[in-house]
Amino acid sequence: MNSNVWINGYNVVWSGRYANQVGDLIVPSIASEISDIRGGAEQEFPIDYSIAMGSIPYVSASEILRGDAVLSRVAGRDIIIGTNASGAGNRYSVPGHGPSASVFVSALAAETLLAGAPSTYGWWLPFLLALAVTAMMMRVSRTPLVLGMLVLLPTCALGLPFLLESAGYYTAIMPATVLMLGSMGHLAWQLHRQRFDERGMLNEVSGHPNLNALRAEGAETQDGLIAARIHNYAEAATALPVAAEKELVEQIILRLSLGNGGCKVYHGDEGIFMWLVPGTSINNVGDQLAGLSAIFRSPANVSGRLIDLGVAFGVDADPGRSIQSRMSSALLACQEAQNAGEHWRVYDPTKLEATEWRVTMLGELDAAIDNGEVWVAFQPKLDLLSGEICGAEALVRWTHPEKGPINPEEFITAAERHDRIEKLTEHVLNRAVQVAASLNKGGRKFDMAVNLSPRLIGHANLKPMVVQTLRRHGLPAERLILEITETAAMSSAEAAMQELRDLRSIGLQLSIDDYGTGFSTLDYLKRCPATELKIDRSFVRMLVSSRSDRIMVNSTIELAHSLGEEVVAEGVEDNETLQLLGQMGCDKAQGYLIGRPMPYEALVDYLADHSTAKAA
Ligand code: C2E
Ligand code: CA
Ligand code: CA
Repeated sequence: MNSNVWINGYNVVWSGRYANQVGDLIVPSIASEISDIRGGAEQEFPIDYSIAMGSIPYVSASEILRGDAVLSRVAGRDIIIGTNASGAGNRYSVPGHGPSASVFVSALAAETLLAGAPSTYGWWLPFLLALAVTAMMMRVSRTPLVLGMLVLLPTCALGLPFLLESAGYYTAIMPATVLMLGSMGHLAWQLHRQRFDERGMLNEVSGHPNLNALRAEGAETQDGLIAARIHNYAEAATALPVAAEKELVEQIILRLSLGNGGCKVYHGDEGIFMWLVPGTSINNVGDQLAGLSAIFRSPANVSGRLIDLGVAFGVDADPGRSIQSRMSSALLACQEAQNAGEHWRVYDPTKLEATEWRVTMLGELDAAIDNGEVWVAFQPKLDLLSGEICGAEALVRWTHPEKGPINPEEFITAAERHDRIEKLTEHVLNRAVQVAASLNKGGRKFDMAVNLSPRLIGHANLKPMVVQTLRRHGLPAERLILEITETAAMSSAEAAMQELRDLRSIGLQLSIDDYGTGFSTLDYLKRCPATELKIDRSFVRMLVSSRSDRIMVNSTIELAHSLGEEVVAEGVEDNETLQLLGQMGCDKAQGYLIGRPMPYEALVDYLADHSTAKAA
């Protein structure tokens, strides 16, 4: 038998061996011999140190010599004989027991084998478990989950091996422990950093997440982005005691959350707030913002003071770009809405992506007006009762020498936004009045309609410009119709009404353009000094097939007539629609069926053809 004990570099015994190779001989160890469990030479097994050393009966040599040994304690048992004198060397560190003589180590090893040969599973089982938990931990970010992982990790790396060991299955825990300590260290660092980051993610006044938080959280979002700007925020805040500013912000956020369906509101500085709306509800954003505007109409009550809040909203619905650029777009849309006196606007990438184009094109616009690239087309209007061409609408055209015809809506919007609309309007008006004057010669009555940018309503130069132009060409004012769009009319308050009445006082006619696309109320229609309603072509297009469009057109005609106004239908493209409009009592029609917008010379020919056709 082999009584060797195998120690590691620290004189600590971790495991026993089944046998040892001595020359050619394989000598079984004491433990192997006693338990009768064999194993290869040098093959190790872990010693079960949970076995209490004291449970192994021990009889000292001196007891035997004195004859007072209780030999019954060892009767019928295997006996290991060895030295246990502390001076004799031969002592080894045994985990949990301190320095012990080799007999005890051999006894523990034998007891271990007697309980059944321990199975060893190497280090990979706890390691893999710890690895799996670590991997999960890296993926979760919610605090309760992270905490859960923090419990799970030591359980897998340490607790599980411990449990297995008590059942005789041995694993090495070192690699799993190293992994565990490593990943916990990483986690601790991460939590620390998160704390640190959070400090820059909250608005100092309100404690709500700020725009940095939005930048971080919205980086990948596909949601729509809405910005709200309280344009009198600075005034409101300075009027309040310092401590009340937080209260003001709380009230604003409360209102926003009420109206935005509970979306998380990010609070920027100086009255700027933003939130994200799910892509699915972006189509209802108009309703949402109309509702919010209504909520903001009543003043806020802060520390007993009533404060009126002016708010405008901007929407960015184009998720394909960086959050930073989307935030700027939403704010830009806010600004535009506010400038235009509207509640909200959507940032339109198709319109704005060509900002650079616009700036250069606008630079060319003035020159283009002067050199004749910008000209005026005339689209004839038919009087449904008499069957005569009763007038035309002047529509501006820009034929660029390189780019060809440019969409009028595009450069008109650009000109409006950059305050370049006045010269353009003057140019169109002048040409239209000139043409009308020449067509009205010889006793013929021919009305000329000119579109008026809503921007110009209330402009001090407008009335004198119109009066001068009429006088210059000698056209009676009643032959001129100014068309203003319904949406523009909507945002006009009493002051704008007064402007319109003032214009009307020249004696000209006023038409509400694109009627049906805005939200004119009956009250508005009654107060507005219009002489004509122009039904938008979207209602005319499907008139024959759509019952609801027919109802809308019918009631508009009745309403207009009851107010003493005439009705023009625009966008008439087929005969059936024209007939139907006639039956409904519509006064005038305009559209491709009657004639496309054309240059003056073509209009002259058209009018000649039309009157000969009528005569024939
Ligand atoms: P609008 O005032 O509604 O003008 C009528 C538009 O409908 C014109 O488009 C005309 O070409 C088009 N149209 C006429 N008949 C038909 C038809 O049967 N079917 C269809 N699908 N379309 C028809 P255009 O010339 O592209 O003008 C677009 C808009 O640009 C105008 O809409 C008007 O709001 C604005 N605009 C045009 N000229 C001027 C101008 O001199 N000053 C201002 N401020 N705006 C102008
Ligand atoms: Ca028009
Ligand atoms: Ca129109």
